[in-house]
Amino acid sequence: MEIEKIEEIYNQPLLELIYKAHSVHLQHFNKNEIQASTLINIKSGGCKEDCSYCSQSIKNNSKVKIHKLMEVTEVYALAKNAKKNGASRVCLGAAWREVRNTSDFETILEMIRTVKSFDLQVCCTLGFITKEQADRLADAGLDYYNHNIETSKENYPNIVSTHTFDDRINTLEIARNAGMSLCSGGIIGMGESIQDRLSMIHSLAQMTPPPDSIPINSLVPIEGTKLEDVNSISVWELIRTIATTRIVIPQSHIRLSAGRERLSTEGQALCFLAGANSIFLGEKLLTSPNQSVEEDREMLQILGLNMN
Ligand code: SF4
Repeated sequence: MEIEKIEEIYNQPLLELIYKAHSVHLQHFNKNEIQASTLINIKSGGCKEDCSYCSQSIKNNSKVKIHKLMEVTEVYALAKNAKKNGASRVCLGAAWREVRNTSDFETILEMIRTVKSFDLQVCCTLGFITKEQADRLADAGLDYYNHNIETSKENYPNIVSTHTFDDRINTLEIARNAGMSLCSGGIIGMGESIQDRLSMIHSLAQMTPPPDSIPINSLVPIEGTKLEDVNSISVWELIRTIATTRIVIPQSHIRLSAGRERLSTEGQALCFLAGANSIFLGEKLLTSPNQSVEEDREMLQILGLNMN
C-alpha cells in the first residue's frame, strides 16, 4: 500500500477509523481473544548502543540496575509463574548490541528449552544475530525473534547513531530465513512527526510477510535518557496509530505495549476496539512499569476478553 493511502486512513474521522479497524479485526481474529506475553529481563543494562529512549544504554545516565545474565533456574521459576498467570508466550530480553558466541549464548539456548518445557511459546530479543546463531536459536525451539524497527527510516538517525535502520531490517531477515516468526514494531511519542509514524507502518507492511507480532509502544520517558523531557502523546494518537496499523496489516497481532499502565481501562478498551489484540502480562516490562496481573484480570473480565 502506498504511503499516501496510509495517510488517508490515518487522517479520517476518528470514530470512522476505529469502526473500520474493528471491522478488519473481526475478519481475521476471534473478537474476544487477547494474546498475553510475559517479558523477562534476562540481562539488564550496560549496553554500548546509544538508543536515546533506552535506560539500559551506557550512553544515557539512567539509574537502571545492571545485572549479568540470569540463571536458567530463575527463568524456570518466572516461566512457571507466567504460565500460571495465563500467558501463552515468554519473551526473553537481553540488553546486548549483539549475541556473542560465549557460554552466555549456550545459557540462552538452555533458557529457550526450559520455557518450551512449560508448553509456552518463546520469543527472544538479543540484538543483532548472525545466520549461524539464528539457526541455533531456531533449533533450540525459538518461536519468535523480536527486533523493533522503532521509528521511520528517516527518523532513525535522530534516535540512534551507533547502528542503522537497515541493520535492523537485515537482522529481521536473518531471523526469518532461519524459520522464526518475527516480532517487530516501534515506539511513538519520541518527538517524531505523524509522517514518521506512517512511514514506520509502511516499512512494517512492506516486509514479506509483515511481522506476525507488532508491538506498539508509547514512550515512557525515563530520567537520565535523552528523551526524558519529551511530552507524552495523547491516547488519541495512540488509538489512531493502532487502528491504522490494523487496517494496513490486518493479519498480525498488534501488542499494546509500553505506556499501557498510564491508560485508563476506557483508553485501553478503545485501543482493543481499534485492533490491538495482545498485551504484556506482568508488573514490569524491561525497565518500565506495567499494569498488575490483578488489574489486567479485572479489566479483561469487564471487557469480556479471554487470554490466549
Ligand atoms: S534499545 Fe537495545 S540496543 Fe538500544 S541501548 Fe537499549 S538495550 Fe541497547
